[in-house]
Amino acid sequence: MSDHVPNKFVSWQYENCLACKWFRPADPINADLFERGACVEPSLKKFNLVISGRDWCNKYEEIEQKQIDKMQEKAMAKEG
Ligand code: SF4
Repeated sequence: MSDHVPNKFVSWQYENCLACKWFRPADPINADLFERGACVEPSLKKFNLVISGRDWCNKYEEIEQKQIDKMQEKAMAKEG
């Protein structure tokens, strides 16, 4: 038996903007930790913050898989 741990596709990580339900990545399909995007958290939205996937703040709320799916489906539909 090998100790090799298979590489997983690291896309949506835990407890950073990338994994936060308020993050709106510029490119939801290929979003990774370096992805730039907007924060639409109700009290922060007005500041038009440009954040990256590896940022974080204390308003963090974990995103649900169905929201990720929805954003990606929408982006794919746009790409045609
Ligand atoms: S800045 Fe805070 S609220 Fe906005 S996406 Fe990042 S963790 Fe979430």
